[in-house]
Amino acid sequence: MDLRVGHGFDVHALADGLRLVLCGVEIPHTKGCVAHSDGDVAIHAICDALLGALALGDIGKLFPDSDPKYKGIDSTKLLQEVVEIVRSKGFAISNIDCTISMQRPKLRPYIDTMRERLSAVLGIDIDRVSVKATTTEHLGFEGREEGASATAVALIIRH
Ligand code: MG
Repeated sequence: MDLRVGHGFDVHALADGLRLVLCGVEIPHTKGCVAHSDGDVAIHAICDALLGALALGDIGKLFPDSDPKYKGIDSTKLLQEVVEIVRSKGFAISNIDCTISMQRPKLRPYIDTMRERLSAVLGIDIDRVSVKATTTEHLGFEGREEGASATAVALIIRH
């Protein structure tokens, strides 16, 4: 069996008055991610995990932030493109596991909506999509609410 595992990591700064979008879900908050795209730090980590499994580099290489066509883009569209690349290489996504790290707001009420959204974009059952959230106990940039980070792993299998 040809299994590949990939890991992704992303960070965005937070600023007042911006939209906060995580896993394609808009979350009510006073701050959002500063980014060229919609700043969906979780989806960016998932994209990098999938690309990493295929040793294809990262989303910065695929979707350069110098390209105006990606300005403000819905990151689920980027993930959709990455999923198509994975399929075009003859692989299916087995599962993904993502952890979002930010001090506020509490993300638990939104986790299942995020999983549903990802499940639809990835084209896999929701029980193969894990989203977790943690604070950093007020430590570091996440704890000071200066930024948010996300890590993800993905397992893919050749058909
Ligand atoms: Mg990013």
